[in-house]
Parts: sequence; structure tokens; C-alpha cells
Amino acid sequence: MNRKLIFAANWKMNKGPSETEDFVKSFLSKIQGQSVNSEMVIAPPFVSLAKLVEALGTNSQVQIAAQNCSQYDAGAYTGEVSVLMLREFFVHYVIIGHSERRSIYGETDEVINAKIKKAREANLKPIFCIGETLEERESGNLEKVLRTQVTEGLKGVSEKDMLETVVAYEPVWAIGTGVTATSEQAQDTHAFVRSVLKDLYGEDVSSKIRIQYGGSVKPGNAAELMACPDIDGALIGGAALDPQSFLEVIQNGSAS
Ligand code: PEP
Repeated sequence: MNRKLIFAANWKMNKGPSETEDFVKSFLSKIQGQSVNSEMVIAPPFVSLAKLVEALGTNSQVQIAAQNCSQYDAGAYTGEVSVLMLREFFVHYVIIGHSERRSIYGETDEVINAKIKKAREANLKPIFCIGETLEERESGNLEKVLRTQVTEGLKGVSEKDMLETVVAYEPVWAIGTGVTATSEQAQDTHAFVRSVLKDLYGEDVSSKIRIQYGGSVKPGNAAELMACPDIDGALIGGAALDPQSFLEVIQNGSAS
């Protein structure tokens, strides 16, 4: 199955509008004239979306993501941003269920499920994050935890909507720690996640769904990870804050 690789920069709470502009200018000059075969996505903080749109201009090689969305349409939800508001910023993707949202802001599988459905109502493509803690892995609960996250997070999500959804497997112990899963660990877990998707959606759909790996991906490990048959791109935090390093992750990962 030929799945197009997707590399997404998750800037987290980094880069306001002026740093966003600097990054984009530098990144676009680096990719100018190059044919990059993979999808490239940048997820800035909400306040930098407008500047990202403006700085990208008519360049359609880079797509835009939000880092979160509300599960509600509008109203008394202080601090929240709706999917329709994101549509106005030409957002294509929205990261949902990142481990920081789960652990710091208490997002449950139920909330994540509601957000995925809300995103699809507005035709946004969810980047649906899942992943286990070190304790869950070491206590032998890896598969149970991931099966629950996938099954509950996708409850009631149609096949059609699933084909517009990217799954990001991010072992919590590898996010921002510098510790990467070995390519064997990552491939085994991706294959397991795909088998759960197959149980839910059947062989054909599950073979088309892209599953990104996330957790300390950098230029030096991108090629080995992306060479694994069930790894279809990366969600990148720290290494995507610098244009050269983000580009090298994409180039090294795409060459594998
Ligand atoms: C992330 O934020 O999703 C992430 C994987 O971060 P890092 O690449 O810094 O581990």
C-alpha cells in the first residue's frame, strides 16, 4: 500500500507571529525549487495562524494545522476555539488528543472522540494522537491501553471520516525526552495499531490510514523510523522548531 508520508511540526506553545514569519521565510527559501514528495504540515499556536497563512502566501506545499479545537460550536467556553473559526484560517488539519492535552488538561477519550467528530463536521482532518506511558508499557498494558484509546476515540467515526484522519502514535515516554522508541518497538506498535483499525474498519480502510510516529524524531533517526512499513510520517516537536532541522527530518525520512 502506497501511503503518502506526512510530516507535521507541532510547535506547542512556541513561536508568536514574528517568529512564525521568520521560520516560514527561511523554510520556504530552503524548499524552493525542491520537489518534496511528502506532505508537510505546520501547527503553530492559534495566535500565529494568521501570520502563517500570510507568510505561506500562495505556497501550497505546506499545509496548516491547529493544535487543538473545541468540541462545541460556539458560546460560553472561555479560552476555546471552534472548528468553524479554524476554517476561516484555512486550517486543513487539527491535532486532537495530544498527550499533553490528555495529561495536563485532563482530556478523556470521550472528549477526544467529540472533538474528532466536530472536526470532521467542519471538514478538518484530525491528527488523532494516542500513546502509552512508560509505566503502562512496562506493566504489560501497552496493547490494552492503545486498543482502548483507539476504540473509544473513534467511536461512531465513519469509514469515510476515518479515511480523512491521520493517527499519530506517540509513546508518552519518548515525547520531548530525547529518548526515541527503537524502530522495532515503533514498527511493532504501529502494526498493532493498524490491526486494531482493521478490527474496526476492515482491511481496505485500515491499509489506507496513515499512522505517524512521534517522540523525539530528529534528522538522525528519521530515515530508520520512516523505513518501517507501518510508519507513514512523523509528528515532530523540538526538532521542528528550527527550519533546517525540520527540513532534514523531512528529507531524511522521505529518502528512506
Ligand atoms: C510532540 O510534541 O508531539 C513531540 C513528538 O515532541 P518531540 O518531537 O519534541 O518529542
